[in-house]
Amino acid sequence: MPVYCDYSATTPLHPEVLHEMLPYLTAHFGNASSAHAYGREARRVVDTQRRKIADLLGVRPGEITFTSGGTEADNFALRASVRQFNIRHVLTTRIEHKAVLAPLLQLAQRGRIDLHFIALDGQGRILLPDFIRLLQQYPGALVSLMHANNEIGNVLDTEAIAALCRRYGALFHSDTVQTVGKLAFPGKDVDFAAASAHKFYGPKGIGFLYNRGGKTLPAILAGGGQENGLRGGTENVAGIVGLASALELALAGQPAAAFHLEKLKSLFVQRLSGIGKPVAFNGQSRSIPGCLPGLVSVRFPETDRPLAELLDERGIAVSGGSACSNLAGGSHVLQELPEAGNGQTIRFSFGKDNTIEDIDTIIRSLQEIYAVPSRRILRQEAFR
Ligand code: PLP
Repeated sequence: MPVYCDYSATTPLHPEVLHEMLPYLTAHFGNASSAHAYGREARRVVDTQRRKIADLLGVRPGEITFTSGGTEADNFALRASVRQFNIRHVLTTRIEHKAVLAPLLQLAQRGRIDLHFIALDGQGRILLPDFIRLLQQYPGALVSLMHANNEIGNVLDTEAIAALCRRYGALFHSDTVQTVGKLAFPGKDVDFAAASAHKFYGPKGIGFLYNRGGKTLPAILAGGGQENGLRGGTENVAGIVGLASALELALAGQPAAAFHLEKLKSLFVQRLSGIGKPVAFNGQSRSIPGCLPGLVSVRFPETDRPLAELLDERGIAVSGGSACSNLAGGSHVLQELPEAGNGQTIRFSFGKDNTIEDIDTIIRSLQEIYAVPSRRILRQEAFR
């Protein structure tokens, strides 16, 4: 049986979400801007789903703008706020997602902003004294710090960061793509947040920007004036229904999901000691607190071919770093961690469909790959 352990890259669509979406791909296919009954029905659905999402997150409907996903929402928040608030200095880290780093680097290259990177400790946590120094030096800056890192799982204390941002008059954007539906939404802490439905068993191609207080922003897409003039383009009605439905399911099942993922992660971390080779962990990913539920970033000894490839051949889908780092030729996050260069990193990100049997399969495959003498495997199996 294949084992999928890459839920931080993307998740399968929940069957109930598909069921909710189908009528809006078939019978109710109207354009929400049309004046006739089909259009009015589509408009009604977009409005009710926006309200539902806002209620689920404890925010206001006018604070939610639908986008094509996390990348667009991050780009929107950063580009629009730099322009609207005439931001000159942006404080961030080198381990943000490329959806944040790429637009910021572009703005810096064009001379629009000065980019300042906050120093990190060996586990990828920001060094508060350095952050405070930068806030003091550049009052009124824009701060962009992700809620949870998609490669190593570190979770940020958004409340503490927000308090510092307020003290120094900084705007706070947080990429919450990895935490929406999994951890409490930090709507009261941040000025802007980004979300993407495909990370929580919703459809791909839909997400939102959260803009606390509905601050005036320039449009991200010029067009027909949809999304209150902020994003032109015919609304993705089925996607919006899917996002709302997936969020509702994720939040209702959150405690049970966290329990399940913590159990799998603890077992996995414990059983890694049985592969006959030493392993180490990146960031805070060995622990349950301070890390995304279900994510473990492990450093393994070198193998003749990449370990992710060897696992793939055995039907186990994992990531070396993140899905994007496969395209970008290596992980910019791991590069920033002093010890991550020793060995090769695999990110395991477990999800709702993973089982204890999956952990057995992964451990057995690792034992095979590292060719633990069969006597030792048998002895370990006997203990189970
Ligand atoms: N930000 C983070 C932290 C992510 O993990 C991802 C997805 O890989 C994104 C942004 C981009 O989201 P999307 O795939 O919806 O564009």
